Amino acid sequence: MRNVRRVPYGEEAQGGWAFGDDACELTDVALAASNLFLRHICDKKPPNERYGCGVWRCHLARSRVVISSAIILAVLMALFAAFLFSKSRTTQMFGDIFARVETERPVIALTFDDGPSVRFTPEVLALLKERDVTATFFLIGREIEENPAGIRAIIEAGHQVGNHTYSHPDMTLAGPQTVASEIERTDAAIRAAGYQGEIYFRPPYGKKLVTLPWYLSRNDRKTIMWDVEPESFPEAAANADLIAEHVIENARNGSIVLMHVMYGSRRLSREALPKIIDGLRARGFEFVTVSQLIEGQ
Ligand SMILES: [Zn+2]
Repeated sequence: MRNVRRVPYGEEAQGGWAFGDDACELTDVALAASNLFLRHICDKKPPNERYGCGVWRCHLARSRVVISSAIILAVLMALFAAFLFSKSRTTQMFGDIFARVETERPVIALTFDDGPSVRFTPEVLALLKERDVTATFFLIGREIEENPAGIRAIIEAGHQVGNHTYSHPDMTLAGPQTVASEIERTDAAIRAAGYQGEIYFRPPYGKKLVTLPWYLSRNDRKTIMWDVEPESFPEAAANADLIAEHVIENARNGSIVLMHVMYGSRRLSREALPKIIDGLRARGFEFVTVSQLIEGQ
């Protein structure tokens, strides 16, 4: 048999945790796992009993290795599946979720996450105004409170405002109280700025699992994801031209484009924005807010 070591009795008995009363055939991996398991058990015994512990029968060790490995593998697979599911742009456990909208019309929603920052909100709004584009801003509650003039300017310019939580945490494992507080405090800040429309929600990092979708569904709230995200591809994010190219090539009817333009580190995305707008217009697309996109289905 390949990859098999024969372990004679007593080979590692000095440490008090070897196994096998004659010889034992196990692959190297199983051998290592089994030794770790026995060491764990034996170290809990008083020193004078450890030798007896070391002569557990090989088949016992082997079956335990198989069962433990199966359990560990199943747990790892379940965790990995939950991780992938938490990042899904198109599915969640409860409630409505949109990564794009199925439509024949050549319409696209530009969406901007985070902020409103004091420094860059005016620049972004000026750029959109210059090209007569309406967009959707998913804002952070704490930053709205720090910059109420920023959100008011966004609302006055006719853009849509969405909720992006109060403090931008990863909400995958957030408890019910955290979920409610993150969303409700941000709603309150948005309403305090005078916003009238339905408030859509976008989870920070696009992460959600059970509690968040459950809360959103119970409160009849829509989760808005995206289908075009140029900044997530290092080869596209290298310069403004490549960012624009990525969006212009990948956007299609009903797309929701995700960009970050509110912080100093996002200079390339701000530089790409006019190129994106001009390039998509040249392909015949019109710009709408996310609610216009969804309601016009
Ligand atoms: Zn964000």
